[in-house]
Amino acid sequence: MKICSGAVWNRSRSNREGICGTCSLTVNGEAHGPDHPGAVCELYMRKFRDGATITVEPFRVGSFPILKDLVIDRGALDRIVQAGGFISARTGSAPEANSIPVAKHNADLAMEAAACIGCGACAAACPNGSAMLFTSAKVSHLALLPQGHPERESRVLKMVRVMDAEGFGNCTNTYECEAVCPAEISASFIAKLNREYARAVLQRRRIIATRNL
Ligand code: SF4
Repeated sequence: MKICSGAVWNRSRSNREGICGTCSLTVNGEAHGPDHPGAVCELYMRKFRDGATITVEPFRVGSFPILKDLVIDRGALDRIVQAGGFISARTGSAPEANSIPVAKHNADLAMEAAACIGCGACAAACPNGSAMLFTSAKVSHLALLPQGHPERESRVLKMVRVMDAEGFGNCTNTYECEAVCPAEISASFIAKLNREYARAVLQRRRIIATRNL
């Protein structure tokens, strides 16, 4: 038996593999419960002592309003992704796999970042209610690949602007996000987000200065 808030999805395959991210639960005070890494749908009752009292709560983050009982609205994360926009890619038949060379290191990092399931546990675990681990994963997986480069600067600027507007806090390096992340996204991606943001701001300023010459 497992704990899961996604009753509607309970019979679906994705719901039992920790990849849909809809559970949004805190179990015994820990986002996604005490068995890390993993989402609540992967948390087995055998992880608890017989007769133990289990406290299940919704994620408590100001940017995720509680709708009812255990149901929260995580639309803020969708709006951050939406602000990032699309990538410029040619339509048509699939390109030859080696036509755009990607360094192995960057391809591996991009895959790691793309594993984020958007569950919001990082923000729920953070004492500042920060969604920087989520945003950094979304920014990084495109910034690391050539296909994501044309909109690289505008993407990070827009996503960070919406992240702030949604009321998420800032990172103060407590690493709580990394500890609860079911996808094992590294907090080092937050450093990458900060570098991407600084790079984009400097690039913008350089363009404005050049125009004013
Ligand atoms: S970074 Fe991890 S904890 Fe945060 S939304 Fe993505 S998968 Fe969930």
